[in-house]
Amino acid sequence: MRVLLIGPPGAGKGTQAVRIAAHLSIQHISTGDLFREHIDRGTELGQRAHTRIRVGLLVPDEVTIGVINDRLARPDTERGFLLDGFPRNLRQARALDGILASSRSRLDTVLDLRIPEAEVVRRIAGRRLCRRDREHIFHVDHSPPEVAGACDVCGGDLYQRDDDREATVHRRLEVYRSETEPVVDHYEAQGLVTAIPALGPVQEVLDQALGAISRSQGVAEDC
Ligand code: ADP
Repeated sequence: MRVLLIGPPGAGKGTQAVRIAAHLSIQHISTGDLFREHIDRGTELGQRAHTRIRVGLLVPDEVTIGVINDRLARPDTERGFLLDGFPRNLRQARALDGILASSRSRLDTVLDLRIPEAEVVRRIAGRRLCRRDREHIFHVDHSPPEVAGACDVCGGDLYQRDDDREATVHRRLEVYRSETEPVVDHYEAQGLVTAIPALGPVQEVLDQALGAISRSQGVAEDC
């Protein structure tokens, strides 16, 4: 199963991606997380990415496409994968089409998480991540940890991403509108997109996402 998750920052991609990938036993691949790992390790790639990420701009395509190409070449993706945060512009989408075509595979479905921009700003301002495992995500109001500042799952420190400040969020939304929305159209034209309203509770959004995935499996089997 090869699933792509698209949506503006704060739509809940990371939260849903972890759950969907666990449900389907496939790899969760987040370009944002891959870059943050590089930043923490202080690699050259991480330094390059950080100068763009902290001001809300996209990391250059040649860097991003290289990171994804390497990640998708690893054997653990054979059962499938869920891409979270890639592709984010048309050039990346075409590169992904090429990578998949060269391994004679294709995407099964694209889930487009939809959410009003005002809610995005509210959600991101309260978002906190675990330093030990960034897949553990909290919100100061909607899903607060039991002990303030500590992760419920592993006890790690919670922190706010430096690109989650309000001014940067507005820039990320602009980039989403101009660069990433055309990617949705690109996959619409291939009949792969299901819009998922992402305003409701986590479980409700998850149920809709899983429903769309199983419908797409039905379609794939019919073909
Ligand atoms: P969000 O979806 O909340 O914006 P991510 O963790 O997916 O957060 O991404 C954080 C930042 O990493 C983005 O704002 C961007 O700077 C960079 N990034 C992530 N994915 C890509 C990509 N596919 N192409 C270019 N830059 C990316």
